[in-house]
Amino acid sequence: MRLTVLGSGSSGNSYVLEMGGTRLLVDAGLSMRRTRQRMTARCGLDIHDLDGVLITHEHTDHVRAVGQILKRSSLPLYMTEPTMQSMDCFSDTEYPKRVIDVEPLRPLRIGALNILPVPTLHDAARPVGYVLSSGYESIAFLTDTGTVLPETANLLRGLNAIVLEFNHDPDMLWTGSYPRHIKARISGNAGHLSNGQAARLLQEIRTPDLSLVVAAHISQNNNSPDLVRQALFIHADSRIRTFMATPDGMDSPIVLHDRRKHPMPV
Ligand SMILES: [Zn+2]
Ligand SMILES: [Zn+2]
Repeated sequence: MRLTVLGSGSSGNSYVLEMGGTRLLVDAGLSMRRTRQRMTARCGLDIHDLDGVLITHEHTDHVRAVGQILKRSSLPLYMTEPTMQSMDCFSDTEYPKRVIDVEPLRPLRIGALNILPVPTLHDAARPVGYVLSSGYESIAFLTDTGTVLPETANLLRGLNAIVLEFNHDPDMLWTGSYPRHIKARISGNAGHLSNGQAARLLQEIRTPDLSLVVAAHISQNNNSPDLVRQALFIHADSRIRTFMATPDGMDSPIVLHDRRKHPMPV
């Protein structure tokens, strides 16, 4: 598995996941120009090398490039029906045909990957996260959720990798300069995960199979790298690699070796 973080946070979220020979863009929240530039520079791929685009929800920081992807490629886009309905770029009658509907908890297959959209709680039409598995490796993308339901947490147990939201520190948020209603929105059940919530979720879902955690969607105003590091520290373990995704993403891809080729020591 190879994961390239093109960008993460309120200025734009986008990842390239290559697994089992299938290549997907997960969210498209950077401009088309930036998406292509960073894909080429970081993983040597172009938009036309992809097999599809998974969208979590319609907020601009996740869909900025969707209009251009529709215009300049023939890629299929995967999202929930209400997500598509809430985006202006689908008003052209041809474009909705490019969308493959996903539903929370209804499995789908793209190339070699089994994919399960999982429900998230967020102030969007029908947002989802994604759990992807090649049969040998698995990864989840879970950001933009105010809470994680216990039944969703159950689906995340036993993964090899997770891209997980560490959005804010509640003290920094509440003592910060945002208007009160925005603070309530961010920290509410349909907002974003705090460092503490994310750390507790990890505690709950980790098994010896977990070897990669990427802390994502980190707020520039209501969080700090030190606080995220502290929250991740409780998972300090030589078997787990932890990364912090910045707004600019990460310079090089993260590679997780397929256990078929690199058997784990027993
Ligand atoms: Zn977001
Ligand atoms: Zn959002």
